[in-house]
Amino acid sequence: MLSPTGLADLLDLQAEDTDIDRLLHQRETLPELEKYRAAAAGLDKVERRLAAASEDLAETTRTLDKTSGELEIAEIKLGQEENRLFAGGMSARETEHMRDEVQMLRRNIGAMEDEVLALMEQRETQEQDVTAITAERDAAASAKSELEAEISKQWGMIDADIAKHEARKADIVPSIPEDLVELYEELRQGKERTAVGRLSEDGTCGVCHLKLSRAEVAEATKADPPRCLHCRRILVP
Ligand SMILES: [Zn+2]
Repeated sequence: MLSPTGLADLLDLQAEDTDIDRLLHQRETLPELEKYRAAAAGLDKVERRLAAASEDLAETTRTLDKTSGELEIAEIKLGQEENRLFAGGMSARETEHMRDEVQMLRRNIGAMEDEVLALMEQRETQEQDVTAITAERDAAASAKSELEAEISKQWGMIDADIAKHEARKADIVPSIPEDLVELYEELRQGKERTAVGRLSEDGTCGVCHLKLSRAEVAEATKADPPRCLHCRRILVP
């Protein structure tokens, strides 16, 4: 028969383990974690929108640069052809042809100028979009960082608590026989994570709350360690 001290220590050990389980559960279920996951998903979404808007802006800028370049070349060509017309000395046919070409160039230049203006307006709108989405992104990123900081603060406190309970466990365990600790750990694998309970005066198991008859109590307490006949948990008389 084990010393009652060993069994009583087992109850203390379980109290520490129960606290640790509770703290671990608390660590995994912080309300901030749910908010953090939502914030991370939101940030991801806004970053994708920003990338798309930036790409649209870059595309417009490329088209604008290209059209502006073409416009510049057409303007130079127009100047050259006009100069040749002004200089004269061409045949009537050549002059006629040159005039047609100058008119065509002017039409093209007009169309390109319209296009450049439209592209500049589009670029301005897209720049505003990028600025607005960037602000959204920055706000989402800082909200996520705040949650990260809050979670690590709370985890830090929980971990410090866990460490205290672990230290108390380390004090308790050496006073309990090794095989009893082994049995205790084995029983704690169960869903309820409870391995030991008090046997009340009237013979009720502190874990399953079923009553043991006087004969059953006598039988249970004869065993080393005493165990509940119903749930097989260790009993501390
Ligand atoms: Zn029981």
